[in-house]
Amino acid sequence: MSEPLVVIGNGMAAARFADELSKRALGRYAIAVVGEEPRLAYNRVLLSSVLAGEVASSEIELKPQAWWRDRGITLRYGCRATAIDPQARTVALADGRSLPFSRLVLATGSLPIRPQIPGMGLPGVITFRDINDIWTIWHRAGAGDRVVVIGGGLLGLEAAYGLAKAGARVTVLHLMDRLMERQLDAQAARMLQRAVERKGIEIVLEADTAEISGAHRVEGVTLKDGRTIAADAVVVAIGIRANADLARDAGIAVKRGIVVDDALETSSAGIHAIGECAEHRGICYGLVEPAHEQARVLADRLAGRDVHYAGSVLATNLKVSGVNVFSAGDFLGADGTEEILLSDPGLGVYKKLVIADGRLVGAVLFGDTADGLWYLELIRSGADIESMRNDLAFGRALAEHAPAPTRLAA
Ligand SMILES: Cc1cc2nc3c(=O)[nH]c(=O)nc-3n(C[C@H](O)[C@H](O)[C@H](O)COP(=O)(O)OP(=O)(O)OC[C@H]3O[C@@H](n4cnc5c(N)ncnc54)[C@H](O)[C@@H]3O)c2cc1C
Repeated sequence: MSEPLVVIGNGMAAARFADELSKRALGRYAIAVVGEEPRLAYNRVLLSSVLAGEVASSEIELKPQAWWRDRGITLRYGCRATAIDPQARTVALADGRSLPFSRLVLATGSLPIRPQIPGMGLPGVITFRDINDIWTIWHRAGAGDRVVVIGGGLLGLEAAYGLAKAGARVTVLHLMDRLMERQLDAQAARMLQRAVERKGIEIVLEADTAEISGAHRVEGVTLKDGRTIAADAVVVAIGIRANADLARDAGIAVKRGIVVDDALETSSAGIHAIGECAEHRGICYGLVEPAHEQARVLADRLAGRDVHYAGSVLATNLKVSGVNVFSAGDFLGADGTEEILLSDPGLGVYKKLVIADGRLVGAVLFGDTADGLWYLELIRSGADIESMRNDLAFGRALAEHAPAPTRLAA
């Protein structure tokens, strides 16, 4: 008999996990996937393209209905899981039913952080996480409307790009002194800012929001330094937090996310967590690649292989506001590291490679990111790069076929 396996969450991690598990152990488990959103799993990364009108929402589905059916997976979407009973080994659903499990996988993703500032409850204040948010944004912010985006990280810039392409007049407010400070160094951030501004988006740095103002709906945003910016809508994109309440309520250990070990198992035996809801070795990853790696490792383990998840090298390979950006590893460069820089602002290309003890430990690429994954492989493998150091910044094609460099005497 197949073992009952329930997955809570029907997002990117869940879909990849179902795919990987069905390739390895089809038939061993009777899989049921419970998803709160009333639709098939979709590629959340493409939401800004949907917002921009570049892609239809129907085109971002990860797998068609038939794919799930053909693998015998029971899909319950549009249905929220409301409680887990680890002892009785059941999951309660919002429709009153209950699903038994022998294994449970939590893949509940994240929730947008909502700052505690006056005005957050006004109509016209929107977050940006799922397809519903896009309908709301379209409803509230049409062509010519003034939209303030709070947050100049990846999400905020993606929202700003989508809104500007749809014809809105967009201002991005960012608390820090440069955009995407968690992924980019100062030079790359400056280049990104110029590229974003060229799209007609206004950027205000070191902008600390005091309140969102309006009588019955949003009318503007006031900063702590007294400046005000008029707005017909405000998109709040200041970050995410792991969606871990279900696990916490069931007595499962939760810190910043649902704590998992290298077997991706929570504090409750047979209950696992993957994707943005999981915290592994103190890290909650907010990107899709670690979620995919975790899905692969967990599928391997549930298929009987003795593999472990050792964490992911933090790498970001993005198209932000239409510009290619890549960063990985220790891109800021700790003490004792060396940097190779290649910068051509005219061409809009910038590369910074950080080296420690003859190995690549970090990289930032702006504009030309074609070699990003190769640099990531070098960082992950810890390969000795001395023999190709001369041409490393010019990319794989040149570096791998270059003669060894001559070292200058110190
Ligand atoms: C606009 C946008 C752009 C992004 N761009 C990038 C990018 O360029 N690169 C990148 O690496 N990452 C990007 N990300 C992040 C990426 O989408 C996430 O890392 C990825 O979706 C995480 O997958 P997940 O399955 O953990 O969470 P999700 O995809 O969020 O899936 C979680 C699902 O669980 C459901 N759920 C939650 N609680 C319950 C419950 N109690 N019962 C049933 N269902 C429940 C939720 O409704 C949701 O559908 C972006 C995110 C957004 C929003």
